[in-house]
Amino acid sequence: MSKIDEKLQPVLDEVLRRNAGEAEFHQAVREVLESLGRVVAKHPDYASHALIERICEPERQIIFRVPWVDDAGQVQINRGFRVQFNSALGPYKGGIRFHPSVNLGIVKFLGFEQIFKNALTGMPIGGGKGGSDFNPRGRSDGEIMRFCQAFMTELQRHLGEYTDVPAGDIGVGGREIGYMFGQYKRLTNRYEAGVLTGKGLVYGGSRARTEATGFGLVYFVQQMLATKGATLDGKRVVVSGSGNVAVYAMDKVHQFGGKVMACSDSNGYVVDENGIDLDLIKEIKEVRRERLSEYPRLRGTGAHYIEGGTIWDVPCDIALPCATQNELTGKDATTLIGNGVSVVGEGANMPSTPDAVELFQTNGVMFAPGKAANAGGVATSALEMQQNASRDSWTFDKTEQRLAEIMRSIHDNCAATADEYSAPGNYVLGANIAGFVRVAEAMRSLGVI
Ligand code: NDP
Repeated sequence: MSKIDEKLQPVLDEVLRRNAGEAEFHQAVREVLESLGRVVAKHPDYASHALIERICEPERQIIFRVPWVDDAGQVQINRGFRVQFNSALGPYKGGIRFHPSVNLGIVKFLGFEQIFKNALTGMPIGGGKGGSDFNPRGRSDGEIMRFCQAFMTELQRHLGEYTDVPAGDIGVGGREIGYMFGQYKRLTNRYEAGVLTGKGLVYGGSRARTEATGFGLVYFVQQMLATKGATLDGKRVVVSGSGNVAVYAMDKVHQFGGKVMACSDSNGYVVDENGIDLDLIKEIKEVRRERLSEYPRLRGTGAHYIEGGTIWDVPCDIALPCATQNELTGKDATTLIGNGVSVVGEGANMPSTPDAVELFQTNGVMFAPGKAANAGGVATSALEMQQNASRDSWTFDKTEQRLAEIMRSIHDNCAATADEYSAPGNYVLGANIAGFVRVAEAMRSLGVI
C-alpha cells in the first residue's frame, strides 16, 4: 500500500515511467517521497517550480565503453557509468563500484541516496555515483590495473576537484583508487590530489578515511543507544559483509566493548562464539584476498562456516548490514525481531528491503538508515578534500575526532527533524527530510537549473 502523499504521487509516476525497469532507483525514490508528504504539507513552496521533480532527474548520466586486455591477451569489454546527480551543494561526490551486478538503475539509486547523505554531513558536496559491471574477483593485479586505467581514460574528461570527485565503493579500495589516480595524473599532467578520495597516505590520502564508514556507523549507533541510556558494552552484534565497511564497523564495536558474533561474504557466513577475530578477517580479505570459508580452519576452535543461508539467523542485540542493497528482507527482519534485536544500523546503502524497515519500525526496533548512518565515509572524504586544498595532513586522532563530531551532528539533526515533524525516533523520516531541506534550499536559491 502506497504511503505517498497525493501531491507527490505524480512525481513518482513520472519517475517510474521515465526510468522503466530500474527497480532499485524506484525503491530509493519512493522511500524519500514517502517522507516528503509532511514537508510539502508544512511548506507547500517546496513543491513549486518542479523542485522535487528536478531532484529526481540526474543532472547528467554518462555511459561508456571500457575496453582492456586480460592476461591471456584477450580483449575484454565492460560498461562504465557515472551519474552526476545533483551539484547544488558542491561538486558531485560519491563512490565507484566494480561488481558484475552494476547497471544504470543501481548507479542511479546510489547517486540519488548520495545527494541527501552528503547534504546531511553539512559539507559542501553534491551527489553522484559511478561504477562498472567489471568483476574483480579472480583477476590478477595486472588485470585490475589495466582495467582501472582503461576506466579512467574515459572518465577523466568528466572529473575535476571542482567538478566531480569519486571515491571507492564495493570492489574499489585503496589499490584501485591508486591505479585510477595514477592514470588521471598521467592523462591530465596535473597533480590534482582533490580529484579522488580514499587515496593512499603517501600521495594525499587522509588518515581515518579507510576506517571512516564503519567507525562512523558505530558512532551513530552509540548515539542512538545513548538516547535510551544504553551503551554497546557487552552487546552481541552481527555484521554482514567482510569488506571495508564491515571490517571497521567490527573494529569499533570491539573498541566499545561489544562482541561481534558473525560476519559474511557473498558465499556464506562465519559464526565465532569467542567473537570474530578481526586480524584474521583482515588477513584473509585484505592480504590473502581469499574467501571467508577459510576462517574456521585458520582460527582453530569455536568458529564454524555456513555456506549460503542468511546471517540474520544468528541471534544478536544489534544488527549491522554492511554488504549490499536488499540483503536484509522482511523474513530476515521477522527472525531478528523474534531473536530480540533492539538496534539495526545500515552500513551498506539500502540493505534493508522496505518491508523489513517497516517491521523494525512497527516493532520498536531502533533503525538507522544508511544515508545517515554510513555518511561518515563521505564526510571524511570531504575532510580529505579539505586537507588536499590546504596542502595539509591531519593526525589520525584529529580526523577521527572530526568524524565523531559529524556523526553526532547527523544523529542529532535526524532526531530533531523527526521530532519537528511529529515522528519521534523515526530516523528514516528525519534523515530524508533534513537532507532534502538543505538541498531544496540551495536549489531554490540557484534558480531553475
Ligand atoms: P567491499 O567491496 O569492501 O565489501 C563488500 C562486502 O559485501 C564483501 O564482503 C562482499 O562479499 C559483500 N557483498 C558484495 N556484494 C554482495 C552481494 N551481492 N551479496 C552478498 N554479499 C555481497 O565494499 P564496501 O565495504 O566498501 O561497501 C559495502 C556497502 O557499504 C555497499 O553498500 C556500499 O555502497 C556501502 N558504503 C560504502 C562506503 C565506503 O566508504 N566504502 C561508504 C558508504 C556506503 P564478497 O567478498 O564475496 O564479494
